[in-house]
Amino acid sequence: MDKNLEVKIAANAGFCFGVKRAIDLVEKTLNEKPDVYTLGPIIHNPQEVKRLKEKGVKILNDIERVKNGCIILRTHGISLELLNRLEKDKTLHIIDATCPFVKKAQDIIKNLSLQETTIVIIGENSHPEVEALVSYGEGKCIVIESTREALKFKGIGELNIVSQTTQSPQNFNVIVEILKKRFKVNIYNTICEATLERQESAKKLAKEVDLMIVIGGKNSGNTTRLAEICNAQTKTYHIETIDELDDKWFNNIKTVGLTAGASTPDNIIKSVQGRLGEIIQTDIVKRGT
Ligand code: SF4
Repeated sequence: MDKNLEVKIAANAGFCFGVKRAIDLVEKTLNEKPDVYTLGPIIHNPQEVKRLKEKGVKILNDIERVKNGCIILRTHGISLELLNRLEKDKTLHIIDATCPFVKKAQDIIKNLSLQETTIVIIGENSHPEVEALVSYGEGKCIVIESTREALKFKGIGELNIVSQTTQSPQNFNVIVEILKKRFKVNIYNTICEATLERQESAKKLAKEVDLMIVIGGKNSGNTTRLAEICNAQTKTYHIETIDELDDKWFNNIKTVGLTAGASTPDNIIKSVQGRLGEIIQTDIVKRGT
């Protein structure tokens, strides 16, 4: 292994504004209230979710099970039907940690649903954010995930196109171009700033290094996308924790890049940096641009 191996960190990596806001809300509520629930995991990072669970957060799959306490809505939002049920029920105090960027996409879809139109959401069909977005469309939403689906799509009239907040601009643009050839389209690009910044700095760094390590939940859409973007440029490993690091990866390597998804906490990024420092026997870690 080369002791002069250089490690660089992407300029934008780790917790985004929306995730930080949600975690702060959970911590604050835990300090003030006895029974704190989230509906499903608050964010897509198993280690952070486990930490909050150990501090007392209870994760619900179904709101019927509890009648008292505070329920914190996750960053990706929940379906309109469920929100209406919670509000009508009034048994649980609702704290809304839905990211404002996700809310913006929900509001756009809600407004569009007042028209006789088709709303196309470019995103992952089974992702909780997309499932919630669809619920705001009053039956007028179609989800398109891939270029293959875009090519097969049969519709009529004008399309209003919205994006899942964590899509890659490349996937979004390619699908829009395919649809544009057959339909009149109105585009609402709702990819969030934090996603764009993380993707751009990951791509830039991946072009400069021999190997990229992407840290974050395997269930995190935005982390998976970062890994895909890096993988298109250089050899890339997507890990959740230091346990997955393998010394052999660093043989015959001169430069390593590190980045992390928007739901990856700082302590995990730091632990990977620390372990890398041990592996390459140096603690010199430079931040990329
Ligand atoms: S990635 Fe973007 S949309 Fe998702 S929580 Fe962070 S800021 Fe909000």
